[in-house]
Amino acid sequence: MRRDEDGKLRRVAEELGCDGYYVVHRTDCSNCTDHGEYGTKHGPFGCRDCGYTGRRRVRVFVAFDFEAYLEAQIEEEKRLRAP
Ligand SMILES: [Zn+2]
Repeated sequence: MRRDEDGKLRRVAEELGCDGYYVVHRTDCSNCTDHGEYGTKHGPFGCRDCGYTGRRRVRVFVAFDFEAYLEAQIEEEKRLRAP
């Protein structure tokens, strides 16, 4: 465990060799809601992707050292594009 910038204890995870943690966002399912007209306001229809809830859980990696992680991402991109 490690404290983040706000002093919250986080379970340390690793991505691309960088330490960080995961946060889970709940967001409108982009597959079946359109932010209003038929979205959450009037009750989404849902789809298979979101389990017919209209809402999706998205896991986002947050690195303790954001710049190092950004660099690691760029390196990874280069590596993937290399023939
Ligand atoms: Zn959906």
